[in-house]
Amino acid sequence: MPWQSPISPGISWYEATIPERPVYPALAGSRKTGVAIVGGGYTGLQAAYNLAKSGTDVTVIDACRFGDGASGRNGGQFGTGQRAWAEDTEEALGHERAKLLFEMAENAKRYVLGFAGEHGIDIEFVPGQLSVGHKKGLETDYRRHVEAMAERFGYPHLSFMERDETASRLGSDHYHFGIRDTGTGHIHPMKLLMGLATQAARTGASLHEQTKALKIEKKGGAIVIDTDRGTITADRALIACNAYIGNLEPVTASHVMPIRSFIGATKILSDHPDVLPGGESVDDSRFVVRYFRKSKDGRLLFGGREAYTADNPRDISSHIRRQISEIYPALANVEITHAWGGSVGITMPRQPFCREVMPGVTSIGGYSGHGVMLSNYCGKLYADLVLGKQTELDLLKALKIPAFPGGMRFRSALLFLALSWYALRDRL
Ligand SMILES: Cc1cc2nc3c(=O)[nH]c(=O)nc-3n(C[C@H](O)[C@H](O)[C@H](O)COP(=O)(O)OP(=O)(O)OC[C@H]3O[C@@H](n4cnc5c(N)ncnc54)[C@H](O)[C@@H]3O)c2cc1C
Repeated sequence: MPWQSPISPGISWYEATIPERPVYPALAGSRKTGVAIVGGGYTGLQAAYNLAKSGTDVTVIDACRFGDGASGRNGGQFGTGQRAWAEDTEEALGHERAKLLFEMAENAKRYVLGFAGEHGIDIEFVPGQLSVGHKKGLETDYRRHVEAMAERFGYPHLSFMERDETASRLGSDHYHFGIRDTGTGHIHPMKLLMGLATQAARTGASLHEQTKALKIEKKGGAIVIDTDRGTITADRALIACNAYIGNLEPVTASHVMPIRSFIGATKILSDHPDVLPGGESVDDSRFVVRYFRKSKDGRLLFGGREAYTADNPRDISSHIRRQISEIYPALANVEITHAWGGSVGITMPRQPFCREVMPGVTSIGGYSGHGVMLSNYCGKLYADLVLGKQTELDLLKALKIPAFPGGMRFRSALLFLALSWYALRDRL
């Protein structure tokens, strides 16, 4: 029986189709370490791998199993740049900073592909991404985006798609236009996660699943982390819990909000060769973005449904099937074989959050839906920071990320209202 994450609903198609994952032992009693990392997704494990590789004594704990958060269950799409479009960032922060943030994301793309290549991890990379418009009124913005990326950000891989090209690449005439990005693609997220954990263990990181951090504090000169399996005393710590932070650390919790997103996998679509014949991944212009792609074995992996409260929707499959049928009417009754969800960490400006939340303790997350490449790279950059190098994390630290309004008590309710309003606008 495939493993069911205790913190994210449903068994993902990834989980159901990979070989059994290695089990890493829970922490047994108290220990001292150089760097303690809380959270075993891409951020935490990349930091651990890179630190251990350079000879640093590093310990990772995860409350569940590695990848039980977002890293093992996401849509697998790299995207390009940060979540916010580069020209919007340019307007807010000026050209120089916007370009550096964009280049950081390009470095992230290269880093992940290089890491997987170097270690022979088959992440099933497929090139190509289509960003498609569901409202005619957005066409000018999309055309300008292609121009801005080529002219001001030096990114030549985008081309504008008229309606006909969009329809033939999607196998659907649901969308009005789109952008084709040949400089990015999509991967099998769980294979990356598993390969990463293996490499972190191989380089000497001490890896512990089923070990929950209960409290992090500075005592004397050390960082002390109380867990349900013993106490870790460290020189420095990284909080890499992202959307799953809960009440562990209040600064992160007030700046990074969880939004729950759900994915369904259809049966193998052997009768529908017209659906995404080029194998690209797709994201659309809705506020509640729909994102989909074909798996290597020919299923449609379709994400779209979101939830802003802790309750799980009653029937993820029906909801996903309804969304699929709006785009692909011929799939109105398609069988959904797997349905699952997870929490995406977003920030107010949709830019990553990186802050020293107490002396010696850094928290990184809030990639706002672009975390597949960014979280891996930020984990690596954290390791560089510990090793005394100047890193692009300075760019993130300099961002003014405001806390969500409403404080710990009311912010979920306020966010629920705001996001529900934007979601409603998708339908107008
Ligand atoms: C359904 C879904 C679809 C997505 N699709 C895409 C996509 O297509 N493209 C993209 O770029 N991004 C996507 N994302 C976002 C992306 O997956 C994340 O940004 C990325 O995986 C974040 O990695 P992370 O290591 O920072 O956090 P996570 O992988 O979430 O890891 C956090 C870990 O912290 C652990 N933890 C929490 N609290 C504690 C504690 N107290 N003690 C110990 N451990 C603790 C959790 O168990 C968890 O394993 C998606 C996310 C979801 C949920």
